[in-house]
Amino acid sequence: MRKAGHSFSRRVKEELARRFPEKECCARAELAAIIHTTGSLHFQASRRQMLTVESEYVFLLRKVFRLLKDFQVRTEAYIKETERLGGRRRYSLYLRGEEQVKKVLVACGIMTRRFELEGGINPSLVRNSCCRTAFLRGVFLGRGSITDPQKKDYHLEIITENEEFAHGLVYLMDLCGFKAGLSVNRRKDFLVVYLKDAEAIGRFLSFVQAYTAYLHWEEMRIIKGMREEVNRQVNCETANLEKTLRAAREQVEILSAFAGKAGLNSLPEKLREAAFLRLENPDASLRELGRMAVPPVSKSTMNYRMRRVLKIAKNFTGEKEIFPSKGNRNNG
Ligand SMILES: [Zn+2]
Repeated sequence: MRKAGHSFSRRVKEELARRFPEKECCARAELAAIIHTTGSLHFQASRRQMLTVESEYVFLLRKVFRLLKDFQVRTEAYIKETERLGGRRRYSLYLRGEEQVKKVLVACGIMTRRFELEGGINPSLVRNSCCRTAFLRGVFLGRGSITDPQKKDYHLEIITENEEFAHGLVYLMDLCGFKAGLSVNRRKDFLVVYLKDAEAIGRFLSFVQAYTAYLHWEEMRIIKGMREEVNRQVNCETANLEKTLRAAREQVEILSAFAGKAGLNSLPEKLREAAFLRLENPDASLRELGRMAVPPVSKSTMNYRMRRVLKIAKNFTGEKEIFPSKGNRNNG
């Protein structure tokens, strides 16, 4: 179901949020990716750690909630609408209880067993290829966005403030067959991992199992491609027509100059007819002139006659300019 006013990004995420990994290893990878990209650690007044996951999409937080439940963490988790940024609602999921928070973070490979935070992607999370799908899905859900396929430029990106994570992500995407670019935004406060190629973006959608979005993406790509092809053909036909008209105008000029100086009667009969037809029908194609001839002739025959008469006319006018006295010799 398409909802009006919802961006393509949101639709992709809604679809991804509905997809739950079957294997425990994948659930862990996906949860880790979402926490990596949207989570933060806070200390409460009691100096006890609290994990917060923030998003403008409440459906994403519901997914985190369910993934945590599968983790058998006895959570004190709850979701709350926190603030509105430029009219947009934001939601937060809080996970209280230091033991619980540490259990989740260690299991997700975000915290070492000595409770130090890790910046990059823990290799154990993405060792299995099934988990790579889940991890990239989580990353896209957390901080990814994609342009509407109807727009002119194709673009998919994932943003992060963490340089180590960004490099890890580029490496992981490479392992999965995606050549991602990496850039820093203008204010240099976050990094952008991106794909620009329409075909690769389509593959990415299919890879993270956003199949409905993938089909829509490919469909729009094909329609756009066909539209471009039609435009190209129309442009090509217009160019050909212009070329024909330009050539005809040139012929008229040469022939009328010749007619003024030597007269068309000096020409052999078939060539004289060709010259007359051209002068009387300056916009007609050679095929059309051929049909007007008596008896009618093919386009190639008319083309042959036109080239001969133009050659005579050009020679005559050309020679006249250089050797005026010899001009009459061309009449014979
Ligand atoms: Zn897995």
